[in-house]
Amino acid sequence: MRAPIEDVRVTALTVPTDRPESDGTLAWDHTGVVVVEIEAAGTTGLGWTYAGPGAATVLSGTLAAVLDGRDADDVGAAWMAMRRAVRNDGEPGLAACAISAADVALWDRFSRARGTALAVALGAFREAVPVYGSGGFCSYDDATLREQLGGWAAAGMTMVKMKVGADPAADPHRVRVAREAIGADVALLVDANGAYDPRAALRHAAELDRAAGGLHWLEEPVSSRDRAGLAFVRGHVAPGIAVAAGEYVTGTEDALALLAAGAVDVLQADVTRCGGMTGFRAIGALAAAHGIPLSGHCAPALHAHAACCVERIAHVEYFHDHARLEPMLFTGVPEVAGGTLRIAPDRPGHGLELRPDAVSRFGG
Ligand SMILES: [Mg+2]
Repeated sequence: MRAPIEDVRVTALTVPTDRPESDGTLAWDHTGVVVVEIEAAGTTGLGWTYAGPGAATVLSGTLAAVLDGRDADDVGAAWMAMRRAVRNDGEPGLAACAISAADVALWDRFSRARGTALAVALGAFREAVPVYGSGGFCSYDDATLREQLGGWAAAGMTMVKMKVGADPAADPHRVRVAREAIGADVALLVDANGAYDPRAALRHAAELDRAAGGLHWLEEPVSSRDRAGLAFVRGHVAPGIAVAAGEYVTGTEDALALLAAGAVDVLQADVTRCGGMTGFRAIGALAAAHGIPLSGHCAPALHAHAACCVERIAHVEYFHDHARLEPMLFTGVPEVAGGTLRIAPDRPGHGLELRPDAVSRFGG
């Protein structure tokens, strides 16, 4: 055996948001992050997922037992073994998040051990990817909305996304405020987080399209479980508006269900939920085979590498919460310049390290 796994260290962190946040179907005041470090043959890999402490329980229990002593270089074999191990507990949800974090840590370790950037080790298609600023929460007042979205546009982003759906009557005003802040040339994306039913989605999309002077993207107008509903909206909405969904897919099977239903113009996937780098790359190939681009959901520091390893990528979501907290938890976070996230191709792994003070500040 080349690199037997010697240690799996798991840390659950809770980071308060900078102000109360809500979208079309949920409100929150903190972000859960579960970090895993996997050590083998003198090299440690780092991965994480955005999930509550239940994912830490899966990692430190079931998954650590599967990984202990296994060859860290056989990342695909470890990925399959982890998926099998959680079969009876239910793979979607927390278990998928835990597996994703471990898979990211294993690929990080694999590439660090070879002195190669993670995306390069996986066969990069590119070294940079466009991002869109994402926030615009339903809980924001007009001034905060204007400042955040206008700030991203001023920084060179050509696309920004805001939440809608908590109070549909207020949304036409909110998208007008956003449009004034970003100008005519920046694409405006909206995310309803499943707040509408299919017919209401068409009505609201038409209202918001008019109020905003053009909408570019309508994300989860209905629940992503309602694939027929998504396909209905996609089939009837104005042709300039792309329907997107996929942030909850936990593997190729979920992704295929959305693609086969004709539910999306752009498929989304989250490397911290969909099976890590292994899952994200497989979903990227599946989407490309369907002629559909993939967009990375949140976790910009990890999607910088993941998105470079997918043939047909639309962009990566530069989500306010994660963009804010990643530099608080890690060193080496890639910075956005001119609306683009660029990897450091000469830096081993994904290049991030857990800050020593992150655990004392946000752990426990
Ligand atoms: Mg979303």
